[in-house]
Amino acid sequence: MEKKKRILTGDRPTGKLHIGHLLGTLQNRAKLQDEYEEFIIVANVQALADNFDNPGKVRENIEEVLCDYYASGLDFGKATVFLQSEVPEIHEIFIYLSNFATVQQIQHNPTIKTEMAQKGMEGSTPLGFFLYPIHQTADILCVNADLVPVGVDQAPMVEDTRELTRKFNKTYGVNILNEPQALFGVEVNVPGIDGGEKMGKSLNNAIYLSDTEEELRKKIFKVYTDPNRIHATDPGKIEGNIAFVYHDLFNDNKEEVEEMKDRYREGKIKDVEVKEKLFEVMNERLTPIRERRLEAEGMKGELLAKALEGSNKVSGIARGIADQMKEAMLLKFK
Ligand code: ATP
Ligand code: MG
Repeated sequence: MEKKKRILTGDRPTGKLHIGHLLGTLQNRAKLQDEYEEFIIVANVQALADNFDNPGKVRENIEEVLCDYYASGLDFGKATVFLQSEVPEIHEIFIYLSNFATVQQIQHNPTIKTEMAQKGMEGSTPLGFFLYPIHQTADILCVNADLVPVGVDQAPMVEDTRELTRKFNKTYGVNILNEPQALFGVEVNVPGIDGGEKMGKSLNNAIYLSDTEEELRKKIFKVYTDPNRIHATDPGKIEGNIAFVYHDLFNDNKEEVEEMKDRYREGKIKDVEVKEKLFEVMNERLTPIRERRLEAEGMKGELLAKALEGSNKVSGIARGIADQMKEAMLLKFK
């Protein structure tokens, strides 16, 4: 039997997961867990980079993220879920790789630039945060992954990983590190209900997988539409209209969506009707996920135990890769 290719992806336990995560990466994880040997990292060390003064937040969100995984259809018996803090080899691989990145390269990384601005860090950036692209490269390489299912905001990170991989192999004339491919679940980031470019865990603009039906309804009715449209008879704009962005993402009846868009442009449909329909389709998609999440609430101990077991397995794999790297760098003595 041919050896399965490997997937590595994961999340920072900085909050509960939302529909951006679902469409950007969680759905692909559930879909590919049979075909690939799948590894999912809960990046609790990386989460501390911008939360080091609030470790309790990171600690308590580990179980929340595990529940979200279960809810989105991840099978803990198939995929290997693990905790970053329990695989110290990642930090070792990180320091070896850091010789191959430059300060300038990280400074120009568009994701780092956006996130620094978002977090108001431009004047004073914690070094731990600045280094996270290399640390994330070490996450991916600690199992030598082939495929990395992520949201598009992470595209530059995977590109950096590929570059570091090539540089390391070339410098030592080896073929130890694998050049992984990114896999995007959606073409653009899922925007926030406030019209913000990216729905974010910590941006107060998210629809969470754990939201109740009532919370979902409230959020959908608050979704940003066309602020210049006062009356249902005013012609409305579709571009930047989040109700229609979500329809495009969740409503499989494309004909119905196009018909609503036409009527919206002509001022022949009320916002309420567009949103009522949106609630219906999103609720249908999210109900089974919400139900599984409730089930997971009672399994937190069990899910954490699986993640600790997974960490041991990954640690063994990562040790092998770190040792090969040491050998290439003439650092290996035993
Ligand atoms: P934080 O604000 O703490 O960085 P986050 O919401 O960006 O939280 P991450 O843990 O950084 O979440 O990202 C986990 C994964 O989810 C990444 O692959 C990321 O690309 C993807 N992702 C996050 N937000 C979105 C979104 N709005 N649309 C699509 N994918 C997303
Ligand atoms: Mg993020």
